[in-house]
Amino acid sequence: MHFWQGKSITVNILFSRAGVAQHIWVCNEHGALLFDAGDGVLRDILSNNLDFDKLTGIVFTHGHFDHVGGLHSLLGYLRMIGRKQTLPIYAPQGCTELFALVDTFTKCYADTMPFNIDRKKLQPHEIFEHAGMIVEPYPVVHCGGIKDATVLNKIPAFGYRITYKHNSIAISGDTAMCPSLRELVKDADLAIIEATLEKSEGSNRKVLEKVHLSEDLAKEIGKLAKEYILIHKGKRKREVPIHAKN
Ligand SMILES: [Zn+2]
Repeated sequence: MHFWQGKSITVNILFSRAGVAQHIWVCNEHGALLFDAGDGVLRDILSNNLDFDKLTGIVFTHGHFDHVGGLHSLLGYLRMIGRKQTLPIYAPQGCTELFALVDTFTKCYADTMPFNIDRKKLQPHEIFEHAGMIVEPYPVVHCGGIKDATVLNKIPAFGYRITYKHNSIAISGDTAMCPSLRELVKDADLAIIEATLEKSEGSNRKVLEKVHLSEDLAKEIGKLAKEYILIHKGKRKREVPIHAKN
């Protein structure tokens, strides 16, 4: 977990690892927004003693499993504790996996839901406000296969710029190198950038251009902001267990 304290916003990177899960809690004195809800999000919110009453909305960068996998548990928990407040859920228009998940949940518990879910299908640069925070979605380039695992199609994916009083932060979401990413990050107080690949040298060019950043490219982008944190690291060579030969 990584914690950042700005003048008017605090950020808890609850967990982030490529292909596993990601969830980031962004908070001010009025409330909190959760960016992505990967596997384990409920456990991570509880073990960090964060207040569910402060949660004013959930925002998704895209629909890959490591970003949406924990939503069912989180919604189940909110239902169990009897949340009353409407919960807005924001995601890029066309984010199939996420909206299907929300529809399934609300259908299963149609008669016993103590709160409403407000589905917000976002267009690029459609600004919205939560707890006084101004949030702007920036379209980023992130490809993934839905129908055919071998074809990399562009999926709806956003990075977000969050501004409140003296602070602005940028969350890249999953993205390859693209011009919109530079705009998103430029002059932010804090940029939270994915660095899935260890390095660009030796990495598949198609992946760098269509799917993910490498650590060196993420640093280059990060320098456009006042401060940056690299997240969403994937499997690193040093983490591969060493097997001794007999
Ligand atoms: Zn992804």
